[in-house]
Amino acid sequence: MVQWEIMATAGGVDVRARMASICSGGGNAVEERNERAIRRAAELVGESSTIVVFTGAGVSTESGIPDFRSPGGIWSKYQPVEFGEFLAKREARERYWIRSRETYPSLAEAQPNPAHLAIVELERMGKLDCVITQNIDGLHQKAGNSPEKVIELHGNTHWVECLNCNHWSPRSKWQKVLELGVAVPECPDCGGMLKVHTVSFGQPMPEQQTREAERRSRRCDLFIVVGSSLVVYPAAQIPALAVNSGARLVMVNLTRTHMDDHADAVIREKAGPALTLVLEQARQG
Ligand SMILES: [Zn+2]
Repeated sequence: MVQWEIMATAGGVDVRARMASICSGGGNAVEERNERAIRRAAELVGESSTIVVFTGAGVSTESGIPDFRSPGGIWSKYQPVEFGEFLAKREARERYWIRSRETYPSLAEAQPNPAHLAIVELERMGKLDCVITQNIDGLHQKAGNSPEKVIELHGNTHWVECLNCNHWSPRSKWQKVLELGVAVPECPDCGGMLKVHTVSFGQPMPEQQTREAERRSRRCDLFIVVGSSLVVYPAAQIPALAVNSGARLVMVNLTRTHMDDHADAVIREKAGPALTLVLEQARQG
């Protein structure tokens, strides 16, 4: 029970009020549909033992992290630095590190929200095979998921790697250096190019993580998509691998996706309130 009280107040989201609004139905067709979908999703969680959760930007927005691709997001303020440009031009690396310097503090301070905590609860129940995430904020681990259960398709903003010698260092360590006026930090071991361990536009996806995500998706019995519109590769294909291998599919997303017609339950609701309710009902059996 304590866990649910924490969840209800975490992240500044008033989950209880939201839950009351969803549960009340109140003749609103969308809410009634959501209520049925939440009940069905809870049944599926109860019946499943190997669950893969796939998370996108919609999970992090409730922690105050803007969707990078949405209007008003990071990319409308800072022109994205393509990977090829980053490698070729010092000026591009300077722009890259200015953006990093200005955006990192809010990423470092962000706290997990009820959606992250509900996914931790799935792990505590022994049902979570893994979380596959497009997010780079590390909030699943911060919420309490075991690091080995989190597959990061687009990397993690809390680490910096040398593109020459594979020297790794925490991103937090470089914030002071950037704030002291160093425009383009260099590898302390070899003087090589440093880059935050996230996938830039034009940079190849991490092969091992992508393969592992596909392998796990093929053998799960329930696949839950949360807060992803499934438009970029490999996100667009991964849920289909699960469904084609016999898994049930639950969608929790504010907007329609191409996989909705293949889903056993579609919940049109914010991630935190929706998952909190699903987990609460699943625990009650
Ligand atoms: Zn190096």
